[in-house]
Amino acid sequence: MAITLAGNFAEYREQFALPEGVIYLDGNSLGVLPKATAAAVAKTIEAEWGNGLIRSWNTADWVNAPRRCGDKIARLIGANAGEVIACDSTSVNLFKALLTALALRQDQPQRNVIISDIDNFPTDLYIAQGIRDLLTQKKIDLQFVTRDAMVSTITALGERAAVVMLTQVDYRTGERYDMKAITALAQSKGALMLWDLAHSTCAFPVELNACNADLAVGCSYKYVNGGPGAPAFVFAAKRHLDTLDVAGTSAPISGWFAHEAPFAFDPLFRVVRGIERFTVGTPPILQFAALEAALDMWLTVDMRALRAASVVLTERFIGEVESQCAGFGLTLATPRDANIRGSQVSFRHAHGYAIMQALIARGVIGDFRAPDILRFGFTPLYINEDDVVKAVAHFREVMVSREYERAEFQSRGKVT
Ligand SMILES: *Cc1c(COP(=O)(O)O)cnc(C)c1O
Repeated sequence: MAITLAGNFAEYREQFALPEGVIYLDGNSLGVLPKATAAAVAKTIEAEWGNGLIRSWNTADWVNAPRRCGDKIARLIGANAGEVIACDSTSVNLFKALLTALALRQDQPQRNVIISDIDNFPTDLYIAQGIRDLLTQKKIDLQFVTRDAMVSTITALGERAAVVMLTQVDYRTGERYDMKAITALAQSKGALMLWDLAHSTCAFPVELNACNADLAVGCSYKYVNGGPGAPAFVFAAKRHLDTLDVAGTSAPISGWFAHEAPFAFDPLFRVVRGIERFTVGTPPILQFAALEAALDMWLTVDMRALRAASVVLTERFIGEVESQCAGFGLTLATPRDANIRGSQVSFRHAHGYAIMQALIARGVIGDFRAPDILRFGFTPLYINEDDVVKAVAHFREVMVSREYERAEFQSRGKVT
């Protein structure tokens, strides 16, 4: 089975501009450049910006890029056209999604709790703290608990909760929440469920509507390969968009792109209907050109086959590291059960940072997450089992020779 799958994805590998001598296991942090992207961006710069100039907002349909890309992302995450919009960063979209959740529950002021995971990616937790401090009159109570305590916390506090906000795949360990079960639990208490899909989108099939998710956000520069700083996205289920429209609820950030008629230049804000309520201002068109090129490639990918190939790669990597690098103090931080992990494998080691630097110097690029996590992402479109075997051979040499003890591998850059 693995051979057929590798064969299927071999043609995708050709579509990426992989540098010579690099085994790239960091597609979970910044995806590789698709060859089509360079051409697409060049066209947008030269023909659309260079020649078309201001006319391109209409003639090249720049103005609809957020919605058009949103509709394409929708197909990758089990949502419908009109439920997703591409815009801003994940952090900004979390702010908008949380405010929207609170707006949808404002008729129940006793629901003042936001539940999340204390090991969630910090920006998610920071945004929630900022909202609590901004909306002092709501007396928001933040309950950040461990994964082990999540079900009992939702069960105990859910009737006071406005929203449960979780990242489906833990950025450090790669452990995955059961989206359907947690969503159902939160909703059984009357709370809304907000998912962060940063490490899910294009890593495996996501089924937002089949899981009845209320709101979601996600990132496009990781597995999606949309480029550094690619526009992120927001999802809101149609039933909620309809409720917000009927209630006339304002936009979470009332910029002119969230106005019903931006080019009427009306001094009074009137919110647009539908998913566009989540947009704010002028979209970054060059980034959108890069994102759309990646999305067009993704729409040709069989996500189930992708997942099967991802499982083959992660299983192989775990097996190889545990046999080749046994006895060097590495411990698996990722669940052994493939059903509850994303598309990454993490190991803990006291010298994790320096070990990763030594691997990167050898062309095996993963990343490090404090305090002690070596993180390796597996992206079947451009990584195969051969890469896994070669990467682990380097890993073994780094451990056997204690290469990571060299002074050059000890100093930390701003980005790890
Ligand atoms: C990567 C990541 C983000 C990134 O947020 P930005 O605003 O794009 O910097 C947010 N949340 C999670 C869970 C992430 O993994």
